[in-house]
Amino acid sequence: MATRVVRVPVSGFAIQLVDLPKNKLGKNMVNAGFFGTYHEEGEEFTLPSGHLTCDWATDGKWTRHYGEERGRFEGDKFRFDCSSWSYMNELHGGALSTLVVKDGRANVVESVELPEGEYAISGLPVVRGGKACAWSQATAQGWGTGSIRPTWHTLIGLKEESDAVYVIGLKSTTSNLIKSGEAAEELLKLGFRDVIKLDGGGSFYFDADGETTSTGGSRRINTVITINEGTESDMFKIALGAGHGAKEDGRRCLKSLDPNETREWVLNDRICDRIEGLLKSYTGYELLRLDDSDDGEADIALAERVTAANQWGADFYLSIHHNAGINGGAGGGIVAFSHPRSGKAAVEWRDELYEELIEQTGLKGNRATPKATSDLYVLRNTKAPAVLLELGFMDSKTDVPVILSEEYADACARAIVDVIVRRGGLKAKDGPDIWAVSAWEQATKAGVLDGTRPKDTLTRQELAVVLAKLGLL
Ligand SMILES: [Zn+2]
Repeated sequence: MATRVVRVPVSGFAIQLVDLPKNKLGKNMVNAGFFGTYHEEGEEFTLPSGHLTCDWATDGKWTRHYGEERGRFEGDKFRFDCSSWSYMNELHGGALSTLVVKDGRANVVESVELPEGEYAISGLPVVRGGKACAWSQATAQGWGTGSIRPTWHTLIGLKEESDAVYVIGLKSTTSNLIKSGEAAEELLKLGFRDVIKLDGGGSFYFDADGETTSTGGSRRINTVITINEGTESDMFKIALGAGHGAKEDGRRCLKSLDPNETREWVLNDRICDRIEGLLKSYTGYELLRLDDSDDGEADIALAERVTAANQWGADFYLSIHHNAGINGGAGGGIVAFSHPRSGKAAVEWRDELYEELIEQTGLKGNRATPKATSDLYVLRNTKAPAVLLELGFMDSKTDVPVILSEEYADACARAIVDVIVRRGGLKAKDGPDIWAVSAWEQATKAGVLDGTRPKDTLTRQELAVVLAKLGLL
């Protein structure tokens, strides 16, 4: 099943009534609600079906005329309460599943009357409260079977956070994507709590992230979701995965070097956790963990990881591993991989990560080509620049004592985060990190440091001043 998902912060989300042929739609627009098509004096126009609160963005005479008859205007805001219009209206009186945006929060409710808010739009219930909806739930609201055939559909969904809406384009393959469970299955996997289905088929138009997906034709449509440009592109999206699951055979430290036979997943995961923790001191990024299993019990398939990263629109993909192949001998060290046919960016990421890791951990090994290429699945199939790091050998007598230490895991995470901050343009939050708060306060109070720039590096002249203040010279 083909799927497109775009996360839209509520602050950048709007619904507009445009009443335009699909081929006149522009950038960052997605077709939205159901509607009827009408003609008056040879002019074609559209009117909404189901609840709608939107911005009025058309000067079409007849749309305005009938809009005034059926709904109400408050400045440029238009409200259509489906319960107040019964003529030729199959949805009249139904408790319609409706996405509402009010005071910066999005929610889905079932409501006979138009819920209050800045934006509202009704659709067929697909997922509610983290559970798949039955087809009877849609028909009970008055929805028919006209719009659920195998084709592209627009859906709108919510996850746990209420300050972001997800606009979804989904190409179904069964004759009724709700009855077959096809849509819900896909959307539950992606972590959705609530999803309603908007229009699709001949009305489908999805332009986001510089890419248009559309069914053919130039059908006139009624409403669009607009995705405010800049709200999302500011965020640097990092897809991060700890390699393997905990139970995978063979992936562990050599027993003669580590009696505990620490598993590769444990080493991979604790570095990923530290990366996640260090990133919390920064803004301007989003993180997607691809190993979504705290205990490593499930080994998430490579295809699943890559698909998740691609659909999410990751800007960078990083896979964390530990190596083997030395059989108890000495040497090894860190090795960083990009794909042999990758673009320039992946090579730059790989080289910067390698250099920074060596700088901060000192685990420079004896491999002939530590900045390497390999035709690995995740590197080959990820759309974003992708790097796989092997952070030392689990069967090297020189590497094992190092890679088992907490200090090494800390240093790896710090080095990786420093590169992500630099290349991804992340901004440090004000104030020191949690672990440094008390020391930072003491140093400031004692006048050793001046209490500014907690995240900056110390220059040599600043060090001299600090040493002098401590009376150590
Ligand atoms: Zn591995």
